[in-house]
Amino acid sequence: MNKEKTKTVLIDSFLELIRKTSAELPPDIITALTYYAKQEDANTKASWAVELMEENIKLAKEKSAPLCQDTGSLLFYVDYHSGLGVSTLELKSAIQKAVILATEKGYLRQNSINSITGKNEPSNVGPSHPHILFEEQGEEFIDARLILKGGGCENVGVQYSLPHAPLSAGRDLEGAKRVILDAVLQAQGKGCSPGYLGVCIGGDRSSGYEESKRQLLRAVSDENPLPELKHLEQEIVEMANQLGIGPMGFGGKTTLFGCKIGHLNRLPASFFVTISYMCWSYRRQGMRLASDFTISKWHY
Ligand code: SF4
Repeated sequence: MNKEKTKTVLIDSFLELIRKTSAELPPDIITALTYYAKQEDANTKASWAVELMEENIKLAKEKSAPLCQDTGSLLFYVDYHSGLGVSTLELKSAIQKAVILATEKGYLRQNSINSITGKNEPSNVGPSHPHILFEEQGEEFIDARLILKGGGCENVGVQYSLPHAPLSAGRDLEGAKRVILDAVLQAQGKGCSPGYLGVCIGGDRSSGYEESKRQLLRAVSDENPLPELKHLEQEIVEMANQLGIGPMGFGGKTTLFGCKIGHLNRLPASFFVTISYMCWSYRRQGMRLASDFTISKWHY
């Protein structure tokens, strides 16, 4: 395939990834959200909020329209194979072009602000917009995943440095549990609950946040290979759902509908626990590109 044709097919594939991510919640997320939301008592503010969410999810898919007015930060994770004849520069260019087209078509809101001038960047392309993380892998395909992360839930993400005296949180899993639950308590309804947590134990200030967001790529059914973290993930959801915060902070039984926890090595002097909070509008999707760069399957 010549370079021009490759570019066109790549742009089309990334454009479809953006459209689908913006308009359609993946089935595993809908199932998890619905499972927890069913626990709410009928005719309460909590149950009405959940009904509105369910209606929104249905309408957005039917109309191929953004699920939320905040189409969020675009976080791309691209695993590529160097033998396929397309460089990361070409992939980046195709992604940026797809973002511009997706904005023109209304799949994305004009959502990118120059932090110095305060001016809106109408194309949605600028420094770190979109944010793209490339990784080379050995298989002969390209896997590209996308998270659209809204500002409201991003604002309640937080990083704790342990030991954390106010919460008596030491440098162990019990300490991690205390600060994770504190993050949920502090967020209240502000992150558009029910939420879903991506957590990283360890790492440094930047790798901790990166890994905590990467945890949000895991399928709901993905079991943590470490029994102690698998147990902690379940415990966090159970305990958070006893806090009474509920959907959109209206009170109720559904505050979290999932939690995924990863870990990175750390320095002896540091012990960070980093929490990324995802709102109910948990937009993530992934595609596999075949050797002709068309979409061969969806990951979620
Ligand atoms: S936090 Fe999520 S649901 Fe709330 S406004 Fe932002 S993107 Fe929308």
